[in-house]
Amino acid sequence: MRMSEQERLRKYPSIRFECRNCGITVVTDSTRRADKRTTYCCASCEREYWRKVTRHANKRKQQEEA
Ligand SMILES: [Zn+2]
Repeated sequence: MRMSEQERLRKYPSIRFECRNCGITVVTDSTRRADKRTTYCCASCEREYWRKVTRHANKRKQQEEA
């Protein structure tokens, strides 16, 4: 189902945020397609962020056990 531009802008208004992974400032724009980003600038940053978090968590666990 295609949303009209007005519908998209109402549902996903333009917001400004800093990517949690790389720190770049992102301004979303849903005039052409639904821009649902709120935390990361792109999918690869989201994956990278979670990879880092998981690695740190594992390291901490190993230190506690040692
Ligand atoms: Zn990023």
